[in-house]
Amino acid sequence: MTFLGNFRTETRDWLEENCPASMRTRMVAGEDVGGGRKRKSTNPDAYVWLERMAEKGWTAPTWPEEYGGGGLPKDEFLILLEELQRIKARPPLGGMGITMIGPTLLEYGTEDQKKRHLPSIINGDIAWCQGYSEPGAGSDLASLQTKAESQGDHYLVNGSKIWTSGAMHADWIFCLVRTDTQVPKHEGISFLLFSMDSPGVSVKPIELLNGHSPFCQTFFDDVQVPKIDLIHKENQGWRVATRLLQHERSGLASLASADTAGPLQRIKPSMPLPDLAKHYAGADVIADAVLRDEIVVNEMQKRAFNLTQARAVAESEADTPGAATSIFNYIEAEYVKEQLELQNRIRGTQAFGWEGDSFTSEEIGMCRLNLEAKSISIAGGSNEIQLNIIAKRVLGLPD
Ligand SMILES: Cc1cc2nc3c(=O)[nH]c(=O)nc-3n(C[C@H](O)[C@H](O)[C@H](O)COP(=O)(O)OP(=O)(O)OC[C@H]3O[C@@H](n4cnc5c(N)ncnc54)[C@H](O)[C@@H]3O)c2cc1C
Repeated sequence: MTFLGNFRTETRDWLEENCPASMRTRMVAGEDVGGGRKRKSTNPDAYVWLERMAEKGWTAPTWPEEYGGGGLPKDEFLILLEELQRIKARPPLGGMGITMIGPTLLEYGTEDQKKRHLPSIINGDIAWCQGYSEPGAGSDLASLQTKAESQGDHYLVNGSKIWTSGAMHADWIFCLVRTDTQVPKHEGISFLLFSMDSPGVSVKPIELLNGHSPFCQTFFDDVQVPKIDLIHKENQGWRVATRLLQHERSGLASLASADTAGPLQRIKPSMPLPDLAKHYAGADVIADAVLRDEIVVNEMQKRAFNLTQARAVAESEADTPGAATSIFNYIEAEYVKEQLELQNRIRGTQAFGWEGDSFTSEEIGMCRLNLEAKSISIAGGSNEIQLNIIAKRVLGLPD
């Protein structure tokens, strides 16, 4: 047997022995682990799975072993991915540590920063949140005003962020701050990391239309941030910030953990769309030819998207995403919205259940998800901004 053949067999055996049965099913809301201990998974198996995978470094399979990663070369990593997908394993660990700040630190962090932060990300000890957007700075992110004044060995941070996902559960934040007001706006921004337990940090949850409260407004009042956690260089944080956004937008990180929990999974109905259509029509066939077409087109789009994402992982030489990640972000957002609209057409009035016995729990859940899912084409940069990036940086069109 070849060396890679051995790796596949050993990996398959190890996964068979170590992946708990309940971790081989579609993600259930509340059972995911995003790092840290403030928000607990409701399934104890999730921690067994996390611990076992983290011990092998497989929560971050390609990161260097010296920081606790798996150190896998690309061909082995792809095999691991296939084997995880084969048993429909859930990602052992999600969250912004693994998907955003970790890969960014690997590129821009000092040795000391990598040693202090990466192991706790890989082990799932710390939950991170993203302090980018402000009330006056969303798409035009570089207009941000949160100020950091240099005071010897630390910065004094004042200001506020908004839409900070998971801030109420986060242990640490990666945060964009203004360190120079006298230069063009992109050139006076720095990238800092600090603990959410630092004196002067407070959060206020924002409630959504569907009753969920996934994000917060975050306030900083004379927060002291040690300079050892300035990433890259003072006033050169924009470069780091945009790099991190490429990781956020790629969705490759979630694919890299055989994602059974991403947006495409969350919107999946309890049965395949053709069966769902027959169920709601109370018939053995889908009589409506237009609906049949829509279901086929939708299924083809999903397969094309999944295959393109998988090809992007396989083809990427450096394993680091570029501006083309905006394409994934845009297509995924559009697909999710279209698929949910299609489900609405299939379910008819049963799609609009808010509470009560006339609706199943799936119908109520989908109705609420439908409202929340609209935000997917805003989060991580709105669709219009993604199209601007594709036009300028991918297609090279003029401004
Ligand atoms: C679910 C969710 C989670 C989020 N999580 C976080 C988080 O954890 N941390 C964080 O920092 N932020 C987070 N955000 C905020 C998100 O990054 C911003 O909402 C987003 O960048 C858009 O900014 P805005 O809301 O200020 O809208 P605006 O920038 O005010 O945009 C309003 C509208 O104008 C359009 N527009 C703006 N500029 C242009 C342009 N140049 N060309 C064409 N159209 C344009 C936009 O597309 C949009 O339709 C989250 C948002 C959502 C919805």
